[in-house]
Amino acid sequence: MKLQQIIELDKCDSLARKREEFELPEDKIYLDGNSLGPLTKKSALRVREVIEQQWGQDLISSWNSHRWIDLPCVAGEKIAPLLGAEPGQVICCDSISINLYKLLACALQKQAKSERNIILSQQDNFPTDLYAVEGLAQLTGETSCELMLADETSISSVLTNPGNRIAVLLLTQVNFRTGKLHDIQQLTELAHQHGALVVWDLAHSTGVLPLRLDDWNVDFAVGCGYKYLNGGPGAPAFIYAAKRHLSSINQPLKGWMGHRDPFEFSSRYQAADGITQFLCGTPSIISMSALDAALELYADISVDQVRTKSIALSELFLTLKDEHECLASLVLVSPRRSSLRGSQLAFEHTSAYAICQALAERQVVADFRHPNILRLGFSPLALRYEDIWKSVQALSEVMTQQIYLEDRFKRRARVT
Ligand SMILES: *Cc1c(COP(=O)(O)O)cnc(C)c1O
Repeated sequence: MKLQQIIELDKCDSLARKREEFELPEDKIYLDGNSLGPLTKKSALRVREVIEQQWGQDLISSWNSHRWIDLPCVAGEKIAPLLGAEPGQVICCDSISINLYKLLACALQKQAKSERNIILSQQDNFPTDLYAVEGLAQLTGETSCELMLADETSISSVLTNPGNRIAVLLLTQVNFRTGKLHDIQQLTELAHQHGALVVWDLAHSTGVLPLRLDDWNVDFAVGCGYKYLNGGPGAPAFIYAAKRHLSSINQPLKGWMGHRDPFEFSSRYQAADGITQFLCGTPSIISMSALDAALELYADISVDQVRTKSIALSELFLTLKDEHECLASLVLVSPRRSSLRGSQLAFEHTSAYAICQALAERQVVADFRHPNILRLGFSPLALRYEDIWKSVQALSEVMTQQIYLEDRFKRRARVT
């Protein structure tokens, strides 16, 4: 494919204007929006306003006058349409790790009257999800909570095994390494048929994959603010809890912000009604403001549009890669069918780390994932088709000239 044809794709792209809403470095091609979404202009302005005016000048009155106190719900309601959730079921707070702990405990308690104590998850799930279960099991004792791991292909059969004691199915929709997708609707239905509740981790889904959590009858979900939602480093995560569960759960991380009336300062905890019962301590206003502002990107577009462009970008990458024989040693480990993968491509190569470093020197920012995966994330709102062309050019230079074999590309940094 010729560069000229690709530039035409950008000209016809109805989302092209969204790139203007980001503060992107001129010279970088950023294929890492799935690890840390780029800065939006709205977030930059908003954070300055929050720091200089709201915090700097208006000080504590901002909790009321600038509605800081409502921000977890306000941001949650902006995320809700991306999840296919009616109002009152999404709140922005804490990190995924912490939110999983809350939700898993709630789900287990809902199953307390049954014999079910097992949380079923996937062997290669994102580790923090498994650690959350391990912590909960240590606290409650294994008779109340036990982690069971299945590999991706055997989840359904484990779930449908008669007499199993599965209380909760805990899965991540998009595998963080390979990008492979689970069918949320199908697995949720199967879990329910066999008596289990579901908790879905939507870290690599939210903002790029069309979701219909209400229609799919999902019980609980968590997702990330700093990946495709562009909330900034350490931006708060979110919780989705279906309305039908909100009056019958007992969130274990009790704190004053989850109290029915925090400013009553009562010594007795009474959970708030509704989704705010998932709050614990004081929200991080600066960080949440950055996320809230970044969510404005979605005000006038649909996730379906984003998904369409995401697929087009990744398919273009694969087409161009196939045109370069020198790239054959990079083996695709993501599903070849675009409908079966998230907004990323993962390639295996024994020198994946060094290749990733050599690319970075050429201003193409990708991710390495242990032990041998080069992962490219496609943030459709920030990327041009032309960027895909340039990134394949850079990759083919690195491979044909064997630049990645230079020693300096082998030294591992603390964050990879
Ligand atoms: C990035 C990611 C997380 C991050 O969890 P935090 O506690 O918010 O840092 C969790 N789960 C998955 C699947 C992820 O990809």
